[in-house]
Amino acid sequence: MTDQTCETVEEPPDSPWLQSLKTFRSAGRGFWSDVPDSLWNDWRWQMKNRITSREQLEKYMPTLLPEESEGSRLANTKLALGITPYFFNLIDATDENCPIRWQVIPRIQEASTAPWEMSDPCGEDTHSPVPGLVHRYPDRVLFMVTDRCASYCRYCTRSRLVSNAAGYDFHPDFDRQIEYIQNTPSIRDVLLSGGDPLLLSDDKLESLLRRLRAIPHIEFLRIGTRIPIFLPQRITPALCNMLRNYHPLFLSIHSNHPRELTTEVREALGRLADAGIPLGNQSVLLKHVNDDTVVMKAHLHKLLMCRVKPYYLYQCDLIAGSSHLRASVRQGLKIMSELRGHTTGYALPQYVIDAPGGGGKIPVNPEYVLSHNNDRVVLRNYEGKVFEYPEAADGSPVGVKLVRKSESDLA
Ligand SMILES: *Cc1c(COP(=O)(O)O)cnc(C)c1O
Repeated sequence: MTDQTCETVEEPPDSPWLQSLKTFRSAGRGFWSDVPDSLWNDWRWQMKNRITSREQLEKYMPTLLPEESEGSRLANTKLALGITPYFFNLIDATDENCPIRWQVIPRIQEASTAPWEMSDPCGEDTHSPVPGLVHRYPDRVLFMVTDRCASYCRYCTRSRLVSNAAGYDFHPDFDRQIEYIQNTPSIRDVLLSGGDPLLLSDDKLESLLRRLRAIPHIEFLRIGTRIPIFLPQRITPALCNMLRNYHPLFLSIHSNHPRELTTEVREALGRLADAGIPLGNQSVLLKHVNDDTVVMKAHLHKLLMCRVKPYYLYQCDLIAGSSHLRASVRQGLKIMSELRGHTTGYALPQYVIDAPGGGGKIPVNPEYVLSHNNDRVVLRNYEGKVFEYPEAADGSPVGVKLVRKSESDLA
């Protein structure tokens, strides 16, 4: 056997810790209790009132750690600090290791770059035929729409350009991007990304979707966005009514921890699902956040309750300054094998490594095929029990030739 565990990692269903992870709660109002509902629920108000400086962080969070204070000073030269008031309210200021805090409050460790870390870990800039497009796979293309997000994830794989703090000066040219897609008939799938495409106004986004839909070889559109998590107020009925005109349109959200799935988020995702938009989730495996089977499982279950199919679990890219957030591949494999078979198949994401340097996403899976022999494949199940499936080395079902021979003998 390999070193992979086959244990059940179960938290009793009535454990208070598990209950608190799985309960849908509102983010509440926190410091903004006197703001009228009409403003709080307005996504533009949330954007205007983001926490973007060390001074604001210190004001709203007296428990700010020295390493966070230092990190926040540094942020505006690397990847900007930005947190919507809504999302800020999910931080537990009394907990140094709050999983929300680790994701959005910079720490001074971001200044340390390991030798294998890079500013463009997936080699996107070398696969870019025109600015703002990454064309790595034969039939689909990544279309960057903006360099802005509602809040900034400290492990952002695209921090070289996102938020423009590092001076990349990203200027998408939709005309050139669309022209390349028009002239490349092998592309049948366009993935809008950024930055966050849902920061565009409804009108701008609609004009882009309309132009892409007008290209005859485009079959499938999708949007990668963390807005439903950082800014659920943006998911208005008007936005959903617009999006539903561009089907088939899928949406991939990005959530990492069960506490991100609030009642506000559940309602926003419900509006998208009701507009017929299939929803997937992409998580990043992160130390201090979700590198634990019980937490991961609670998150996956909550996603299903929000009608979201867990799509990918990413090994954290080798982005400069992310060592303090990186969980190991071994831990990722251990979590995956503690999930497979132990819970709903629909709940399981595909664990992938986006190959350093630009090879694309590579699936990494616990080993279930123990050996291929001359007459059988040897397998293990989720409990570690061994099973055999008869099959010859050339793939033909064992015994079939023998049966036929005896049949022809009879004839
Ligand atoms: C992730 C990614 C895609 C989409 O890959 P899927 O496996 O189809 O989801 C496309 N292009 C680039 C550059 C990507 O990084």
